[in-house]
Amino acid sequence: TAAAVQELITPQVQISYTQHLINGKFVDAASGKTFPAYDPRSGEVIAYVAEGDAEDINRAVSAARKAFDEGPWPKMTAYERSRILLRFADLVEKHSNELAALETWNNGKPFEQALMSELPMFVRLFHYYAGWADKIHGLTVPGDGNYHIQVLHEPIGVAGQIIPWNFPLLMFAWKVGPALACGNTIVLKTAEQTPLTALYVAQLLHEAGLPPGVLNVVSGYGPTAGAPLVAHMDVDKLAFTGSTETGKVVLELAARSNLKPVTLELGGKSPFIVFDDADVDKAVELAHFALFFNQGQCCCAGSRTFVHERIYDEFLEKAKARAMRRIVGDPFKKGVEQGPQIDVEQFEKVLRYIRSGKESNATLECGGARIGSKGFFIEPTVFSNVKDDMLIAQDEIFGPVQSILKFKDIDEVIKRANETRYGLAAGVFTKNGDTANRMMRALKVGTVWINCFDVFDAAIPFGGYKMSGIGREKGIYSLNNYLQVKAVVSPLKNP
Ligand code: ADP
Repeated sequence: TAAAVQELITPQVQISYTQHLINGKFVDAASGKTFPAYDPRSGEVIAYVAEGDAEDINRAVSAARKAFDEGPWPKMTAYERSRILLRFADLVEKHSNELAALETWNNGKPFEQALMSELPMFVRLFHYYAGWADKIHGLTVPGDGNYHIQVLHEPIGVAGQIIPWNFPLLMFAWKVGPALACGNTIVLKTAEQTPLTALYVAQLLHEAGLPPGVLNVVSGYGPTAGAPLVAHMDVDKLAFTGSTETGKVVLELAARSNLKPVTLELGGKSPFIVFDDADVDKAVELAHFALFFNQGQCCCAGSRTFVHERIYDEFLEKAKARAMRRIVGDPFKKGVEQGPQIDVEQFEKVLRYIRSGKESNATLECGGARIGSKGFFIEPTVFSNVKDDMLIAQDEIFGPVQSILKFKDIDEVIKRANETRYGLAAGVFTKNGDTANRMMRALKVGTVWINCFDVFDAAIPFGGYKMSGIGREKGIYSLNNYLQVKAVVSPLKNP
């Protein structure tokens, strides 16, 4: 494998945009302050970015308000809006190389993953929502009296959107695509770890013809830039993706301000369940992917690998061997499967959970330590003999740590899989149709992947049961998040 990773893909990118984008212009923070953006391969600063606070949020919300109330965005024809979104998608496709390089530079994910999977998905999402823009319409409904009843679907107004750092571009697309297709205006707050690619694509969106003020992007920290957006009295809707802990704060702030409706996409502790009829080699590979993809930094990561006792020993040996073969290194190198964790805080948090696993007497099969002395690289780690009440089986670790648990029968595994405060996703691996049917009904989660994992089509709704969130994103479900419903009633014969 050493040969496979030799070639370094040189990032052809420079950082051109570091200011806020408000009302179609790049501007400094009102306070003049900046904060650092890092390269997680080394921990070195790669740019200083405008640091937003309440004043920047106020300016951005005013611009979005004006663009909504006075137009032209919501007043344009839906066809014109659709064409801008399509032109934008084409521009992103043209700039895929630079964007993927910037994403990797600031986030640490493998360049090939960003370029070959995430950029095409970004483009696909905007094509999908551009397609919806001119197909959103209300209804006329029959009533009991002699009335003409119309139900209008109107844009909701100014949308506040807060996104995390694990998929900076895709989270932008999931949120901005549907909000714009429905005719809303936006203030987007990016994650403090990854402010750069959103600014780049936002600039491309303006090049594609987006009127000023329709999308405003403010960089900054959660409590100082995120919270003022959530609490703003002139923001009509809030969409948040991040941790369950912060999601609760967001919901409370929104309720205490103007009771704006909130969509939340939060944490998870998703089971990946392997039945004894499975092809073990295939199950090992998919379970490995389900957990380790994106450095284990996925809200839907298959982080509780349940394996039937009859195949447990074989599965464990092979899962360990697969983890030890995982290629960790510079994400700009070809063939690298795993880059660094996003930052020092997450890095230390993951190492704390590894210590907790050892202390609670789970068996450390492989990994468990940092790699090198620079950047935030962690060895692919596998624990066996994991019990349901251990912290590593309960909490979201958000790192390359696989926990393998043994089960005896289907009733037991259904119960244990559901015994968590989360309910984001689940994987089921079986050749038996009856088992699959039973599992898909019994699991209390927003997505069940059967004999596959992390399949994210633009049309598939995504979101959580229980403390994994409120509402759904993607597909037609996202449209409802950004539409207000108005009933209009008039007599068939006017007096
Ligand atoms: P993580 O712990 O993975 O960084 P968070 O949920 O804290 O996840 O962060 C997700 C997003 O929420 C980021 O954009 C972050 O800046 C923002 N955020 C954090 N705290 C708050 C808050 N109190 N109010 C609003 N947004 C916040």
